[in-house]
Amino acid sequence: MSPFDKHKPTDNDMFKVIFDHSPSALIVTDHNFLIVRANSKAINILGRCINPSDYFLSLFNQSSKEKIEHLFNATNKSELRSIDVKLSNYDIDKWLELVASNHHHKTNLIIWSLNDITERRAREKELEQLAYFDSLTGIYSRQYFLQLAEIQLKQHQREDKTLCILMLDIDDFKLVNDSHGHSTGDLVLQAFSTLISQTLRKSDLFGRIGGEEFAVLLPYTQQQDAVLTATRICHKVEECFMRHNVTVSIGLVAIENTNMSVKDALACADHALYQVKQTGKNSVQVAELNAYECKSDKTLK
Ligand code: GH3
Ligand code: MG
Ligand code: MG
Repeated sequence: MSPFDKHKPTDNDMFKVIFDHSPSALIVTDHNFLIVRANSKAINILGRCINPSDYFLSLFNQSSKEKIEHLFNATNKSELRSIDVKLSNYDIDKWLELVASNHHHKTNLIIWSLNDITERRAREKELEQLAYFDSLTGIYSRQYFLQLAEIQLKQHQREDKTLCILMLDIDDFKLVNDSHGHSTGDLVLQAFSTLISQTLRKSDLFGRIGGEEFAVLLPYTQQQDAVLTATRICHKVEECFMRHNVTVSIGLVAIENTNMSVKDALACADHALYQVKQTGKNSVQVAELNAYECKSDKTLK
């Protein structure tokens, strides 16, 4: 006889001690998701009062509810199931990792283990934000712009439609920093990005490619319309940044009937941009596409 059997507590007492003092946050529901029991750790994590017969799914937002229901309708019920879900009715986004027991078909009860992953999700979101958006201006990062542009380009090539890409480079930006200071330069970059975003349509892509270099993709746009947009940008920048003497040069490439990649297209636009810089800045130049090679065309203003 084991020494543990001498003063053996009842199963019920054992269950209560284990459940209520478990280091894991636990909730038991019936198969209709009505709460049967919750331990103090779970109540702490939820940060709100819950009562027997409360509807477990009402703790979560709509898409999380659907995820949980889907989990339970899944055919393979023998696997341990774990999902990330978002609680509803909190001031901040509060996330849980939820693990469900796999015996509900035998006992009619489901044991849910809850793990607070709010901080992890916030960190992941921050990293995502850093990868997709430029931290100074909030517009698309170089990497993300290239990815989205590649998708757009392929779609246009499949549909045999024209799109245009603009490369923008702020003129003499070094002088802005030198005369007004680097932090004013940062403010100018932010204001510049806001101005261009407001000038473009929602469907256009706009990203920061490098320090004071930006790129725009105009979907389903013919060259002559893109030239109008680029010229409007030049005029707006000149007008809005008169005090800081800021202007912008733009190289433009129209892409139709070619299988070129976004990088090739940007190189062509860049080549046209270089020509603008050589011939006085603050204007637009169209690159002429000749298969994969590009030669600069006339300068427009
Ligand atoms: P150009 O007309 O030929 O383009 O001349 P530029 O002075 O604009 O070009 P250059 O390449 O000589 O200088 C770019 C300047 O942009 C230098 C760099 O310090 C500044 N720059 C790049 N990134 C940032 C940034 O994030 N903030 C600030 N304030 N300045 C930046
Ligand atoms: Mg530059
Ligand atoms: Mg520049």
